[in-house]
Amino acid sequence: MLKIQNYINGKLIDPISNNYIDNYEPATGKVFSQIAQSGATDVENAVETARKAFPSWSELSADDRAVCMDKIADLILKNLDELALAESKDNGKPIWMAKQVDIPRASKNMSFFASAIRQFHSEFYQSSNQIYNYVLRQPLGIIGAISPWNLPLYLFTWKIAPALAAGNCVIAKPSEVTPYTAYLFSKICIEAGLPAGVLNIVHGYGGEVGEAIVKHKEIKAITFTGGTSTGKHIAGIAAPMLKKLSLELGGKNPTIVMDDCNYEKTVKETVRAAFANQGEICLCGSRILVHEKIYEQFKKDFIEETKKLKTGSPYDDSSKIGAIVSEQHFKKILSYIELAEEEGGKLLTGGKAFNPGGEFKNGWYIEPTVFEGLPQNCRTNTEEIFGPVATLQSFKNIQEAIELANGTEYGLAASIWTENLSAAHQLAAKVDCGIIWINAWLVRDLRIPFGGMKQSGVGREGGEEALKFFTEPKSVCMKF
Ligand code: NAD
Repeated sequence: MLKIQNYINGKLIDPISNNYIDNYEPATGKVFSQIAQSGATDVENAVETARKAFPSWSELSADDRAVCMDKIADLILKNLDELALAESKDNGKPIWMAKQVDIPRASKNMSFFASAIRQFHSEFYQSSNQIYNYVLRQPLGIIGAISPWNLPLYLFTWKIAPALAAGNCVIAKPSEVTPYTAYLFSKICIEAGLPAGVLNIVHGYGGEVGEAIVKHKEIKAITFTGGTSTGKHIAGIAAPMLKKLSLELGGKNPTIVMDDCNYEKTVKETVRAAFANQGEICLCGSRILVHEKIYEQFKKDFIEETKKLKTGSPYDDSSKIGAIVSEQHFKKILSYIELAEEEGGKLLTGGKAFNPGGEFKNGWYIEPTVFEGLPQNCRTNTEEIFGPVATLQSFKNIQEAIELANGTEYGLAASIWTENLSAAHQLAAKVDCGIIWINAWLVRDLRIPFGGMKQSGVGREGGEEALKFFTEPKSVCMKF
């Protein structure tokens, strides 16, 4: 059976324990590979090799680093089919989505930051003819990167690329739920000639490998994407060590539909925003807030559009909803569906597990589910479910829409659907989220800051924000 090994010092190696964890294919519920169960000693070895690699990697010109990253980007695209199949097998997402979104974006992350580091510049202030001030931006050293399972290679490379571009070495840990493409990525790095030790990928459980990375004294910064409670736990360890921290956490995102929206487009796009990737995107709009004037009609059309989404094998290009990532997560989502009913929600569609039959009969599938009639402050409307479950609520005016939108502890993303420019801008200014879309969802220039406020995180990724995070500014003031 396929063994997912660590990538340390430029080589694929077994974990010191020689223990492996079963890795499941969500589409069938069967084990298809074995993941290295690493621990603190594997992390220590990775740090040692990164320490040795750092001086020469950080002293390369930005262009030389970028050339190597561009090679990796090209190889990702060259291996698109293999990587997409691996992502789909590991995560359960439809293979068409992995081909169109996840894998091309992983390549783009590498080429985008290769290009960004070539353009990166720093500040210079001239105080007088005799006093110059400039800012050196130097790499931090060794970075710890920890990523989740929902967009595996996409988010993994989104962290690694800017850290490497800025001249750091990286110890990275993908989610133990979806490690397969990170393993294939390590083979690509070897093929591209990335110098040994510059990037090390250590597989295993969060409480073992992840925690060892966070606790390691020589690791200067932690870039983490995952759940809010894990993020808080990591901050509890890393903050007293005065490490730099970037935390991209959970969300419970509102979708605000005004009565003057471009109706047909809004129905289609809000359904996509609720259920793309089985609702397992941190940016999915799971709370759909609709102006009371169009609520009943919108509800009818939203349900009709949701019912068109075919749930089924991720390898079938007609499936819009694939398998849920793990049995544990599948049970969690079903428990939230029960909770929504207990809390008095009215089920409008879906609400149960789905069995595609045949070889997929033991996979983990849930029908796209919609509830109405739940107050904003109930658990269904305030806790992150992270699955194909959405709720509909109505509002009377902009003020009430803002209150409902801001009625959770999270503040990651929101989308606003209206043709009224002034309402759009008013909502964008008042809704407390790091990202606001107007008449769109999930389109974004990689140069803008990305991240959440409130319980959705600390810090921003993307473009210059990321390059600033992965460098230490040193102000040099000179009088002559
Ligand atoms: P998770 O927090 O369970 O795990 C994320 C990563 O952290 C995994 O690699 C895991 O092994 C590791 N980890 C777990 N415990 C750890 C510990 N004690 N120390 C160090 N590392 C540890 O999250 P998940 O279930 O993999 O992902 C889903 C969550 O991620 C959702 O809450 C989702 O909203 C969030 N997410 C956020 C964004 C964003 O950009 N804000 C993007 C994607 C996903």
